[in-house]
Amino acid sequence: MEYKMLIDGGWTEAASGRRSGVIDPSTEEAIATVPRASREDARAAIDAARDSFDGGPWPQMRTDERGDVLERLARLLEENAEEFASLEALNGGKPIRQASFGDIPMAIEHTRYFAQLAKTLGEEVVELPDIGIKSRVLREPIGVCTGIIPWNYPLLMAVWKIAPALAAGNTVILKPATYTPLTALEYARLAMKAGVPSGVLNVVTGSGSEVGEELVSNPKVDRVAFTGSTEVGRKVMAMAASTVKKVTLELGGKAPMVVLEDADMEEAIRGTLFGAFLHQGQVCLSGTRLLLPSSLHDSFLKRLIEKTKSLRLGPTSSWETDLGPLISESQREGVEGYIAGGLGDGARLVHGGRRPEGLERGFYLEPTIFDDVTSDMTIAREEIFGPVLSIFAYDGPEEAVDLANATTYGLAASVWSSDLKRAEEVARRIRAGTVWVNHHHILSCAAPHGGYGQSGIGRELGIWGLHEYTELKHLFLDESGEAMKDAFGLVSPE
Ligand code: NAP
Ligand code: MG
Repeated sequence: MEYKMLIDGGWTEAASGRRSGVIDPSTEEAIATVPRASREDARAAIDAARDSFDGGPWPQMRTDERGDVLERLARLLEENAEEFASLEALNGGKPIRQASFGDIPMAIEHTRYFAQLAKTLGEEVVELPDIGIKSRVLREPIGVCTGIIPWNYPLLMAVWKIAPALAAGNTVILKPATYTPLTALEYARLAMKAGVPSGVLNVVTGSGSEVGEELVSNPKVDRVAFTGSTEVGRKVMAMAASTVKKVTLELGGKAPMVVLEDADMEEAIRGTLFGAFLHQGQVCLSGTRLLLPSSLHDSFLKRLIEKTKSLRLGPTSSWETDLGPLISESQREGVEGYIAGGLGDGARLVHGGRRPEGLERGFYLEPTIFDDVTSDMTIAREEIFGPVLSIFAYDGPEEAVDLANATTYGLAASVWSSDLKRAEEVARRIRAGTVWVNHHHILSCAAPHGGYGQSGIGRELGIWGLHEYTELKHLFLDESGEAMKDAFGLVSPE
């Protein structure tokens, strides 16, 4: 299948005419090609978004009208949910069960949520007690917003960049990850059908080093929303600085899962498997550090290994599959490098670590567990982004909290206990943007998502996520005419 990209309402080839191949990571087979855009194409999309912001109807439309367009988009996505799930499984290395019950329903719900939330954007009246009048505060769109996203949730990340930005009246250019452009292009197709005007939404398929850098550094862009690695996030922040763009960054993580002594063991083990190995551990929220009380350590580990053995690896098209492939050969090699590093640092490999037998094609890797990990080891510090779990033993809640916080990241954490009060005490002391009690990974459209520390800047989702796409204007309008009478005596009234 030959896809085109969306610039200024038209389905477009790269100016150079070049194309890139897209593969299925389960089989390594080619499934599609997309235009390989350059900086020139990115600039064309930026110009279209700039013109449709400065001159177009979208920013001035009533918020309920914009909400209606997004509501239609949510409905179209719902009508095409099965096709989207299949495509996400095919291109994204996402087991079909997860794509069908996770990614796509969330993409629908989150689009619909911002459709509704758009209608709440308005003006507020504020008392100015020191001046003695009422004033107004307006939320206005920021302008041209660019979104740069990773390959692990190709559609959902596109929704998070597009839906709140459009809801608030901005115009958008999205750059999907090079590995996974297909569902974002299909979403854009539905957005056009739903009534998003030409130029308001653009999707440009190209590399980070060309298209990505243009979208971050071009002076016509007002705001950049980046989701990806902390390493690239640092560059994005630096590039955006020269024109003082608004930036939000959703970066990496190294989430701890803290099991307390009174945890329900079976539930905590299920939670650990879910936390560590969902989408082969290629999730920013993945629970990659399991903190076990010394007293539970041996029995917990034994049972955890038994349960890990029951996970089924296979192609994403199968409804039986629990774990699909990693996204690419280079991702798999990177994860294998971390596994070798863990062994070299003296961690004890207790499960997995190899490419599974019988799956010769596709980028598969066994779920892998290291015990006896210490906080100074590379596998404990760096985000691996693969199915690798590190286990730490601790004595007492103080040590658990110290270990949990021994990271430069701070995206997420979970605490497992049958005593909710104790769990809450620990949860409150962990420095992370989301802390779950007796759960992991669960996201809601209405709760903020984002990171402390080097996991990022700003929040997505909820009213906070929508407000990130607005500028605040203070409209000072003194109906009484009294305020000017007191201009500090600088200009005396007649
Ligand atoms: P990545 O390598 O940082 O790439 C992310 C995006 O940035 C891709 O679209 C990439 O394009 C682009 N990019 C690369 N270099 C760039 C540059 N110099 N300027 C502008 N854009 C550039 O991340 P990834 O490997 O795709 O995804 C994994 C990472 O995403 C992990 O660290 C994970 O934790 C993070 N993540 C965070 C969240 C969150 O909400 N906090 C959610 C999901 C994922 P190419 O595809 O062409 O390289
Ligand atoms: Mg990358």
